[in-house]
Amino acid sequence: MARILIVEDEERIASFVAKGLRAEGHQPTVAPDGETALDLVLRGDYELVVLDIGLPGIDGFAVLDQMRSQGARMPVIVLTARDSVGDTVAALDGGADDYMPKPFRFAELLARVRVRLRAGESRPPSVDSLTGGQVTLDLRTRRATVGGREVELSAREFALAEVFLTHPEQVLSREQLLDRVWGYDFDPTSNVVDVYVGYLRRKLGAEAISTVRGMGYRFNP
Ligand code: CA
Repeated sequence: MARILIVEDEERIASFVAKGLRAEGHQPTVAPDGETALDLVLRGDYELVVLDIGLPGIDGFAVLDQMRSQGARMPVIVLTARDSVGDTVAALDGGADDYMPKPFRFAELLARVRVRLRAGESRPPSVDSLTGGQVTLDLRTRRATVGGREVELSAREFALAEVFLTHPEQVLSREQLLDRVWGYDFDPTSNVVDVYVGYLRRKLGAEAISTVRGMGYRFNP
């Protein structure tokens, strides 16, 4: 059970999401605009935020930006109109953990909520950064460095790197990585994991992640 803040101005969507989360045993609170959301996020202790981008007054991007710059670190899942997914993906580097294009199925949102809550549980809240070999991930600012030099990682690359660094020297299968990072059933023939491992190798160093044939990938600190 988690305290979840839903930031959504469309009452129909807000109550649909709140009802669904309550049915799952969570404690949802709805904020109908950005100012209220910021107020609540900075005062209350929410474990996760579901954040709409199109809001009256300050929009979701500004809310995200302000909450991160004021040190709010809980996972954020952004809700966005399908036709502006491009902008949203670009803006994810502003500190969101995932996004959901609208309209969405509740089951899909729930799967992502589950993944984000689980990711938060898997490490003690006092941990601000993860280090493995040359690679350091600052979990607060979502910045990555290799040998002290900053590298730009997209939100998804960062999430994948986070999974690798929390399981050093462990072989992780494609399915495990899909589940942890993408959080729902992709087409099993999808090569999205391989593609992103390729991106990470380019940024973290080719030797950082080895391929274990027939099994998956392993991070070598
Ligand atoms: Ca809206």
